Amino acid sequence: MKSHAKAVVIGGGVVGCSVLYHLAKSGWTDIMLIERSELTSGSSWHAAGGFHTLNGDPNVAKLQAYTVQLYKEIEEISGQSCSLHLTGGVMMADTPERMDFLRLAHAKGRYLGMDTELITPSEAKAMFPLMDETNFVGAMWDPVEGHLDPSGTTHAYAKAARKLGAEIVLRNRVVELTQEVDGTWNVVTEQGTVKAEHVVNCGGLWAREIGRMVGIELPVLAMEHMYLLTEPMPEVEEFNNSTGREMIGVLDFKGEIYTRQERNGILLGTYEKACKPWSPVSTPWDFGHELLQPDIDRIAPSLEIGFKHFPGIEKAGIKQIINGPFTFALDGNPLVGPVQGLTNFWCACAVMAGFSQGGGVGLALSNWMVHGDPGFDVWGMDVARFGEWATLRYTNAKVRENYSRRFSIRFPNEELPAARPAQTTPLYDTMIANNAVMGDSWGLETPLWFAPRGSEPKDVVSFHRSNDFGPIGEEVRATREKVGVTEIANFAKYEVSGPGAEDFLNRLMTNRMPKTGRIVLTPMLNEFGRLIGDFTIAKASPRGGEERFMIWGSSAAQKYHMRWFEKHLPKDGSIRIHRFDQTLVGLSIAGPKSRDLLQKLVDVDISTTAFRFMDFREMAVGGAPCMVNRITYTGDLGYEIWMAPAYQRLVYKAIKEAGEEFGLVDFGMRALLSMRLEKNFPTWFRELRPIYGPFEGSMDRFIKLEKNDFIGREAAAKEQAEGPKLRRVSFIVDAADADVMGDEPIWAKVGGKDYGTVEKPHGYGAPRFDAGGKEVRGSNAAEGASAVRGIVDGDWRVVGWVTSGGYAHYVEKSMAQGYVPAALAENESAGLFEIEILGHRRPARVNVEPPFDPSGEKMRT
Ligand SMILES: Cc1cc2nc3c(=O)[nH]c(=O)nc-3n(C[C@H](O)[C@H](O)[C@H](O)COP(=O)(O)OP(=O)(O)OC[C@H]3O[C@@H](n4cnc5c(N)ncnc54)[C@H](O)[C@@H]3O)c2cc1C
Repeated sequence: MKSHAKAVVIGGGVVGCSVLYHLAKSGWTDIMLIERSELTSGSSWHAAGGFHTLNGDPNVAKLQAYTVQLYKEIEEISGQSCSLHLTGGVMMADTPERMDFLRLAHAKGRYLGMDTELITPSEAKAMFPLMDETNFVGAMWDPVEGHLDPSGTTHAYAKAARKLGAEIVLRNRVVELTQEVDGTWNVVTEQGTVKAEHVVNCGGLWAREIGRMVGIELPVLAMEHMYLLTEPMPEVEEFNNSTGREMIGVLDFKGEIYTRQERNGILLGTYEKACKPWSPVSTPWDFGHELLQPDIDRIAPSLEIGFKHFPGIEKAGIKQIINGPFTFALDGNPLVGPVQGLTNFWCACAVMAGFSQGGGVGLALSNWMVHGDPGFDVWGMDVARFGEWATLRYTNAKVRENYSRRFSIRFPNEELPAARPAQTTPLYDTMIANNAVMGDSWGLETPLWFAPRGSEPKDVVSFHRSNDFGPIGEEVRATREKVGVTEIANFAKYEVSGPGAEDFLNRLMTNRMPKTGRIVLTPMLNEFGRLIGDFTIAKASPRGGEERFMIWGSSAAQKYHMRWFEKHLPKDGSIRIHRFDQTLVGLSIAGPKSRDLLQKLVDVDISTTAFRFMDFREMAVGGAPCMVNRITYTGDLGYEIWMAPAYQRLVYKAIKEAGEEFGLVDFGMRALLSMRLEKNFPTWFRELRPIYGPFEGSMDRFIKLEKNDFIGREAAAKEQAEGPKLRRVSFIVDAADADVMGDEPIWAKVGGKDYGTVEKPHGYGAPRFDAGGKEVRGSNAAEGASAVRGIVDGDWRVVGWVTSGGYAHYVEKSMAQGYVPAALAENESAGLFEIEILGHRRPARVNVEPPFDPSGEKMRT
């Protein structure tokens, strides 16, 4: 074993081997993989080997599609077969709601370039005759599904990596990780220490233990998982002989089961409700190639439904039940990327579908390590997407919930209950007493809407408008006409201070930094000129002679943004960044009477001229020291008031008492989001994401190319000079009783006109190099964009996709935001657009100016 390596990958499961292969392919050959035992000694060896491309996150779906198409490549390089069976598969819906879900998935698949198709239960039965089709109302066919040999595939990655120069060391456990002052890692193994620049945690079942070696608790947990194999079945052989085809894969939502042909019999796996974590606190190092005891009672309820839905299988004898553990993160997607707060410590773990996702994970991570950027929008699997609140016990509760709902539909207004409440603000009990329906916002309980007194504060989950529609409308109207108050503790808040803080922020942000006491809105770009943040920044008065800026951003992106800030901090420690998390909480008041209300609570003049729109001031509110921004996301006259948690109850009480004479109401997050829609305001992670440029995102007025040289400036200047291909636009939709949720296709009546190729980007052109140092671009399925292929219906064509939307209660319109070709972005003609909602195309019209207060007069008053 060599004593130095550029990178050490810990773990020889399918994920570690894929990471090793991709690093080697990117030109890093001084790399080694260290495996405790033999390759596939974790969960990889007993996997059912199924793969598919569908995923709730379109960007993860795209990386899954890449994984599937990669198998041919590694077979060719390694000479090792993966035993690929590309059978195709169906998802079966047993209720109209599940059919709505499939319609949505199908609609999304369209612009991702997936060839999914909605089919009848009888058509599904023709491909899987063991089912009783009368149990179902419909199905979705996906041709890119199948199964493979898990061990062969892992070895194919490993052999291909070796051929490219990587070293693999077996039967050697990593026992300790320490880091030198210069950043070098000491990878202490049973066979000695390796000095490495980078360490990658691909520990699978032991990922948590490897995390603990560097002082972190990764939110990952292993669950027991069972599948059964039947004896050979004559029906299967008969089908194969008569059609010349293998039976397809079937996913049954109701039974929470998947099934497919395995040799001459059937494999059937369950995601049972009564699921069981495995080794919940720590994983024994001596666990190896053994299986767990099957527990037929646990899966009996799923099997009962399974045998009813697939009576053909019930008749077959069960040959074997496999029970093995594999790992999950809270939401079922992987944990990939550099860990915030550490240098050159990388994760590729919690990969619950290694054979669907392993390739994409390896590609994204190797790009990130070699070129400093994953090259794709990998937020859906970024290790930074969970906060400190994801503790061992929190993770345990959430992973169990996720597992037991693996095939359940998540409705757009559905909040999941496990591990809640976790974080609460001092106003939690007050909000509950006010009949608030609470939601989880990055682990924090946040009021969503207020149910009328005497009614149960609970969402009726639905794809259609639901029981919150009326109350939210009332919250919006009362706020717009009088005044409303809401909690905003769930924003991210940071303070940047120190000499040179302004220069530092000017280098990071696209807008000019504000003068003392003023606020700016500013996007943040990566080197490729893509949007990686959107912030509100205020300049506070200097303290101790040092510059001080307050920053507010997206709650969910706190670790993601901290990682970026830390990466760019000067090494001399002159600038400090403090993330407040819940040590700073807030309230926002908005509406025409909000100034009168606030004036009663402060001892300074806050008239229009004394405290202008976009002003920032530290002042006492109701006797509590606060920071006040004259700005709100409602787009109305309003204020954001920030205080230490100890003062929040005092300030809220003062606002409520002072507000009585003005007709003050409480409003929740959903009313806030409704109000932002009628102002055409974008949201981070929906409208604004790293796949879009700032001009595509219609953020033009916040991009000051003429100021200093900021990160991404050159690329942004190029985007502006060439003209963005896409534009973010707002629509008014002629919806019925359901509004858009996001990811719906946008149709346009373009006739024979060509508005340019319409593409949904996933990657963003980060340069990559092959082993010979030659630059390669768009060389595989994941790197390019998804062309919206051939989706044509007469004069109509799919030209874009929705990012978010809903009902704008004050203007009484259903609204949507999304991306369309730039040439169409300002065309407000009626009859030009349609947006597909739950499978039905509804007329839509571009709305360039926001329907509420287009001149912005109200917020400036
Ligand atoms: C019953 C069952 C059915 C499944 N079916 C499917 C399926 O149909 N499709 C699908 O895609 N996925 C399936 N999976 C999941 C799949 O197995 C996992 O997604 C995949 O194996 C994860 O691979 P990994 O490389 O991350 O982890 P692992 O396979 O657990 O590999 C981790 C490796 O790291 C090594 N290691 C850990 N710590 C150290 C250390 N300190 N030093 C050195 N080496 C170390 C371990 O020995 C191990 O070999 C199934 C899993 C089970 C249990």
